[in-house]
Amino acid sequence: MSIKKNLTVLLAGASALASSMVYSAQEVNVYSYRQPFLIEPMMKEFTAETGIKVNILFAKKGLIERIKREGKLSTADLMLTSDFSRLTMFTEDGLAQPVNSDVLSKNIPAQYQGAEKQWFALTTRARSIYSSVERVGPAPNVTYQDLASPAFKGKVCMRSGKHPYNVSLLASIIAHEGEAKAKTWLEGLKANLARKPQGNDRAQVKAVKEGLCDYALTNSYYLGKMLNDPKQVSWAEAVHINFPNQATTGTHVNVSGVALTKYSPNKENAIKLMEFLSDDVAQKMYAEINYEYPVKENVQASKLVASWGKFKADDIKLSDVAAQHKAAIKLMDEVKFDL
Ligand code: FE
Repeated sequence: MSIKKNLTVLLAGASALASSMVYSAQEVNVYSYRQPFLIEPMMKEFTAETGIKVNILFAKKGLIERIKREGKLSTADLMLTSDFSRLTMFTEDGLAQPVNSDVLSKNIPAQYQGAEKQWFALTTRARSIYSSVERVGPAPNVTYQDLASPAFKGKVCMRSGKHPYNVSLLASIIAHEGEAKAKTWLEGLKANLARKPQGNDRAQVKAVKEGLCDYALTNSYYLGKMLNDPKQVSWAEAVHINFPNQATTGTHVNVSGVALTKYSPNKENAIKLMEFLSDDVAQKMYAEINYEYPVKENVQASKLVASWGKFKADDIKLSDVAAQHKAAIKLMDEVKFDL
C-alpha cells in the first residue's frame, strides 16, 4: 500500500471517529413542569429515533425563575409547561425565541401558537364543570356564568384562583366580556363557593363525592386519571363531566406546550424535539398516557376520552387570552379570591 493510500485510509478512519463523537455528543436540555411518567417515555422514543440524548430537569416550581437567573449561561434549550399562562410569562419575560418550522406550522393549528411563534401548544384540555351524580345529574347546558348565579350559592368547589388553570379561564372571560363584567362574574363565583379555594383539581371532585359541593371546576383529563386510580375511582364515579358554554362561547381549553429558550445552545436538536412532540407518535402518547386531547388534527383521543363525547371548544385565539393574563391575576387579587 502506498504511503498516500495509507494516509487516506487513516484520515477516513479519523473522520469517521470524529463524526461518531459528534453524533454521540448530540443532546438537548429540557426544563419540564410536566411530570416524568408522561415525558420520559416520549424522550426515550425520540432518542431511539434520532440518537439525540435528552437531559431533563423536572420541577413543579421555579424553572422560569431559574432560566432567568442563568441568563446567557443557561444550558436549557426547551421549556415544557402544563399550561399556557406559564408559556405566556416565559415569552413576556423575553426568555423565548420564535421558531419557524414547517412541521410545527402544519401540525399545530394557528389558534394554539404564540402570536410570534414563540410558544406552541402540544395538547389541549377542557376546563370542565363536573356535576354530582346524586344531587344534580348530567348538566350539559351548564355555563361558567352559571357558577356565579344565585342558584349556585354554596354549591361550587375549586382550587386557588391564582392557579394557572383558573387564571387562564378568567383571562378568557376578560377577553370575551371585558374586565368589568369579568369582575362581577368573579365576585359572584367567590360568593358561591362552598369553601375557601384549596387543594388540587381532583380534590374538588372528591369534595363533590363527600357532599361538600355539587359542582367542581376541574380539567378534563383528571377524570381519566381518577378512573384509573383505585383510590380515586369512587370520586370519579360520583360525578358527570360537562363541557360548559356549548350554546355560547364554547368550553375554555387550556394547553400544555413548549417554548425554545432565547439562548438555546442546542437549537437544531431542540427544534427536532419540538417537531417530534407535535407529531403522531408523541401526540398519541399524550392522548393515551394522560387523557389529553392531541393538538394534531388526525390523531385520535383515547377511547375513554372519546367516550365523554365531542364538544365545542372556545375558538378564541390563545394569544388573545394570554394578553389578558396579567389583568386576570390583578382581578384575583382585587377580589381577594382565595381569602
Ligand atoms: Fe394538571
